[in-house]
Amino acid sequence: MNRRTKIIATIGPASEDEATLKDMIEAGMNVARLNLSHGTLEESLELFRRVRFVSESAGRPIGIMADLPGPKVRVGAFAGPTELAVGSELFLEPGNERSTADRLQVDYESLLTDIELGDRLTMGDGSIVLEVTANTGNELEARVLFGGTTQGRPGLHVPSDRLRIKTPTPEDLRLADAFVDKGVDFIAVSFVRSAHDIRRVGLEPAPRGPLVIAKIETRAAVENLEGIIAASGAVMVARGDLGSEMPIEELPHLQKEIISRCIALGRPAITATQMLESMTTAPMPTRAEASDVANAVFDGTSAVMLSGETAIGRDPAHVVATMARIASRADDEFDYEGWAHQIRRDRLSEPQSQDAAVTDVMTMATWRAASEMGVKTIMCISRSGFTVRAIARFRPQAKILGFSPEERTIRQLTMSWGATPIPIDRIEDNAESVRHVLELAESQGHIRRGEIVAVLGGSSATVGATDTLRLVRCP
Ligand code: PGA
Ligand code: MN
Repeated sequence: MNRRTKIIATIGPASEDEATLKDMIEAGMNVARLNLSHGTLEESLELFRRVRFVSESAGRPIGIMADLPGPKVRVGAFAGPTELAVGSELFLEPGNERSTADRLQVDYESLLTDIELGDRLTMGDGSIVLEVTANTGNELEARVLFGGTTQGRPGLHVPSDRLRIKTPTPEDLRLADAFVDKGVDFIAVSFVRSAHDIRRVGLEPAPRGPLVIAKIETRAAVENLEGIIAASGAVMVARGDLGSEMPIEELPHLQKEIISRCIALGRPAITATQMLESMTTAPMPTRAEASDVANAVFDGTSAVMLSGETAIGRDPAHVVATMARIASRADDEFDYEGWAHQIRRDRLSEPQSQDAAVTDVMTMATWRAASEMGVKTIMCISRSGFTVRAIARFRPQAKILGFSPEERTIRQLTMSWGATPIPIDRIEDNAESVRHVLELAESQGHIRRGEIVAVLGGSSATVGATDTLRLVRCP
């Protein structure tokens, strides 16, 4: 079977040249992530243009995600690789100058007033943990609980209920504006705590605006999950910071819960961070990492994400290819029947708005028709991509073709589980559209003459609901 789970890869110094980008697209990258925590806005915009150019030359739609830094606290740069030894004592002070093994500069102004004795501060993605032991008024004293080597400007995870800075920050809004102007496909919002944080980004609903991705990485976000999912276009299980914020033994279960609630509501879910971490330097993943990628697929994730592995790793295209093989093999073993029944149960037990109920019933009927008749292809005609995401919830074994006249929808569908996006010129009246997409799918080799296919769409009368299903034979 072709791969159904999508791959997001972060672009950085190791992958920003045209040749590597092209190799990564060949290897299976579906979405390129630009991490705006690094580099200047100008550099990120240049990278954006380059990814667009390479994807256009390759003739493959590639979504682009601009990931906003949020109120991320960083440690002032180290001169080189620096060892923080377990048991050693060090000082922390507000500032952005050079850090050393005994004295860390922290770019958080109210460090001395917001942090309390006994707080644990985590550097990197959990590699070094400090415990605050004293506050002299000019500096904090801390002991290294877990030691390690660090370099550059590592992030410092401050427990989110201590952080006074709100997300999105004014800088986030400035960055988001610049990327919305260029027509970015996804904006990811870091350290979200409530649905209100998502609304404050103030974007037009997709496809007029980008799909907004809520990164679930604070305790408050876990508590307000339902509202955040409802306000977002997609969700990321941001395991790096989430793993510092919550007890580590909760992480696997949170991942399952966040993914299943997200998918039930028709929002793509992304599993992120350290998926193939060891491949930053090694040619093969650890056995645990290979299992992690497959298990994320079994949890129902729509996409799996690579961070440092492709941004600063030794061989970004090889990492993407490895992830593609693991994900594709896991797709073969996925429990399609069990999943569809679970989603069906979830949907039928939830009180619905009328439009949502219409979409639920129509997409359930489509799944059932496809599975009972052995239909191999479900074709969705969709302006916003809503219908495609709604049918993808059920994880049909049939191929999903998403036809849209909106360029941005086509690129947003690169993140949707199982969807092959196909651009069309316009959506005509229903009969005409069906004829047109059948012809197009046949000419591109997606379906065969004589094959029965399901065609799913919204009628022009209803907004926000999927209300027509046809089972037709390809002429
Ligand atoms: P980051 O987000 O890489 O921007 O920190 C992902 C995570 O926290 O897992
Ligand atoms: Mn994070």
